[in-house]
Amino acid sequence: MTTSLYSPGTRVYLDSNDGWVPGEVISCTRGSGDSLVLVLKDENGQERTITGSGSALPLLRNPPLLESADDLATLSHLNEPSVLFAVQSRYAQRKIYTYSGIVLLAVNPFEPVPLYTPDIVKSYIGRNKGELEPHLFAIAEDAYAAMLLDGRGQTVIVSGESGAGKTESAKLVMRFIASPKVQTTTALQTTDADKNSFVDGASLVEQQIQATNPILEAFGNAKTTRNDNSSRFGKYIQLLFDTNRQIVGARVRTYLLERSRLSYQATTERNYHIFYQLCAGLPSQDLQELGLDSDYNQFHYLNQGGPSTSEMSDRDKFHAMQDALRIIGIDAQRQMQIFQILSALLHLGNINITQTRTDAGIDDDDPAMARAMEFLGVDASEFKKWTIKKQITTRSEKIVSPITAPQAVQVRDSISRFIYTCLFEWLVTAINVSLTGKYGDAAARAETYIGVLDIYGFEHFDKNSFEQFCINYANERLQHEFNTYVFKLAQEDYVKEKISWTFIDFDDNQPTIDLMESKVPPGILAILDEESRLPLGSDASFLQKLNAQLDKPANKAVYKMPKFANAAFTIAHYALDVTYQVEGFLEKNRDTVPEEHLTLLTSSENAFVREVLDTALHRTDTESAEPPSPASPVSKIPDPGRTSLAATTGRGTSVKKPTLGSIFKSSLGTLMDMLRMTNVHYIRCLKPNEHKRAWEFEPLQVLAQLRASGVIETIRISTAGYPSRWKFEDFSRRYLPLINWREGPQLVKREQWKRICVLCLQKGKIDKSLFQFGETKIFLRTGVLATLEGLRSTK
Ligand code: ATP
Ligand code: MG
Repeated sequence: MTTSLYSPGTRVYLDSNDGWVPGEVISCTRGSGDSLVLVLKDENGQERTITGSGSALPLLRNPPLLESADDLATLSHLNEPSVLFAVQSRYAQRKIYTYSGIVLLAVNPFEPVPLYTPDIVKSYIGRNKGELEPHLFAIAEDAYAAMLLDGRGQTVIVSGESGAGKTESAKLVMRFIASPKVQTTTALQTTDADKNSFVDGASLVEQQIQATNPILEAFGNAKTTRNDNSSRFGKYIQLLFDTNRQIVGARVRTYLLERSRLSYQATTERNYHIFYQLCAGLPSQDLQELGLDSDYNQFHYLNQGGPSTSEMSDRDKFHAMQDALRIIGIDAQRQMQIFQILSALLHLGNINITQTRTDAGIDDDDPAMARAMEFLGVDASEFKKWTIKKQITTRSEKIVSPITAPQAVQVRDSISRFIYTCLFEWLVTAINVSLTGKYGDAAARAETYIGVLDIYGFEHFDKNSFEQFCINYANERLQHEFNTYVFKLAQEDYVKEKISWTFIDFDDNQPTIDLMESKVPPGILAILDEESRLPLGSDASFLQKLNAQLDKPANKAVYKMPKFANAAFTIAHYALDVTYQVEGFLEKNRDTVPEEHLTLLTSSENAFVREVLDTALHRTDTESAEPPSPASPVSKIPDPGRTSLAATTGRGTSVKKPTLGSIFKSSLGTLMDMLRMTNVHYIRCLKPNEHKRAWEFEPLQVLAQLRASGVIETIRISTAGYPSRWKFEDFSRRYLPLINWREGPQLVKREQWKRICVLCLQKGKIDKSLFQFGETKIFLRTGVLATLEGLRSTK
């Protein structure tokens, strides 16, 4: 009954221009029909009258006691302003973490907070989620405990928009799990590297795990308008545990490093950190040798964002990065070879390409070209030839023809981007070799794992291109997994187990995913691939095909031709509609380097350059992986997919080579398969304001993020449903200590498991409303397990 909900003094939220303001009912009378006339006062003392019923009436505000609850699932009035105000008031009290059912919300404090000290780490060890203040560590401990319980793989998925705090959170989770304090004893032999105080008291393998961060961040992060340390790639790191649940190694997979940044940066943005670190951190003699200068603004690849000064201490970061390289087994000599390649790229970018009357030209003695080729071990005249000319192979002959200066610049930049991507891949491989042992023996010893996924959040800018398309595609897939995990599985299980339950609707985003990835009928990626393989394919013809094939009634809800933008298409994503400009889609998807250049590079005189290219080109996709040789023992741990750069050759002609889109699709597919096999834990990072200011909370901005991440729906389901479900036998075995059962569990007959469950629940004085018995499983409401676990630990 609506009437009883409102009476004088009832706390409510009133609509206002920027969201809601808290208010209170002054009087409530009946209007015509079932409408009410409410006189209300907002917190500023302003009065207003609302007449209406149902959703026209103001939303209810929670009693003060609940208002900043630890877990939003405990709010008795569950509506957007309640959720938002709870998060906001906690943030105002410097509480950055809040549970929302199975999800942990983390609001970026934008300044160092004293929440991660060794004492705090210690306090979360062995404690159930909910016993202490909400924290990342509680999620990490939860994952660890779940792994101990049944040996199942675990994944912690960290999501959120750029600058929300994903990478920082992922690092803290890893640090907690890999912390020697979590494990009862530390594994592995000690070596010289142990003397390095990278992580106090950490074993070699733990140090190696920590060392992945400064390396990957130097090569894969950059300053963007939204985040000074923005990850430009997705990362999944698996911490591997043996039968004794000791960390024996780790494995890193990366996804789709942003390539365009290497040759182009938008205003105020920077290239990858490593270049600036190099210029700031190398001793002057090395700088001289590499033709570098601490004033890096002279490099075209570093100065397009405008003259930049370092915002983070590039020099310190450089030294930390060098330490990290050493820890993963890359010695000083090898490091210098890496730096040579990096310098070569900077010199490549400075090659002066001129336009003569008809074609592009480069001076034979262009100093930048000489330096670049010296470091790459490639003949300068050959390089020059294939940069300003192109070769087309027809059935009968090869025709060499000149190209224009802008085209030559394209060729040059595509080579730089290609080499950089190879180097990144090479580094990831080197990290994995060090973390799993040369022959993968650590991976072979591993029995189970905890994975941490730090992947780019949903993106929408004024102009969106292929990169945003891929990123948002990844987010659609992840959102789908989330939905499936939280909603579908729960409900299907209830049906299967025949327990009483009301269905909750949720937005299924499968139609959007189909639109993007379907093979038959072809979706956007399939149409893009087809067009990319046509020698005369163009962005315009790609768009024409999209519109011809996708703009039809069946896709009305998900695909739109924008009214006001040319050369663009719009996708209705779960978060919001995004319009993509087609310009550059084909080129980026093809991601090609001219064949002749590839031949030059792969036959470089520099053995390390050859190795870098080889590693990247020959890394195989799991689908086509060769059977492991005896030297590389099979791992029991599923691999979240490798990327292959073998795509990067040819001029996009007839040969069927995988495109960037198809590589991304397949590696995402493998990742999703992998996530499905694990227990998933979610951390949603929230960015409280656009200005990176500490303790400033913009309600509308946070609300948009809460909506986009489906947080409200999740609470609905975790309060209405039964978040924990156990097989009778598993549950009985776990809680057998609660009852004095004389016989050992091995003597218990199958039919008796259910009876033991009943006894355990009785012992725990669990109210009838808090559980239901299905056919084979017991279903428990939030909080029951915590009670039982508490009892069990006192036994
Ligand atoms: P991107 O998608 O661009 O990679 P991200 O979500 O990974 O963004 P982070 O790089 O983790 O964002 O965080 C951005 C910045 O916010 C950090 O550099 C740091 O200054 C601050 N920050 C994030 N989390 C915390 C935290 N727990 N404590 C203190 N500062 C933090
Ligand atoms: Mg990041």
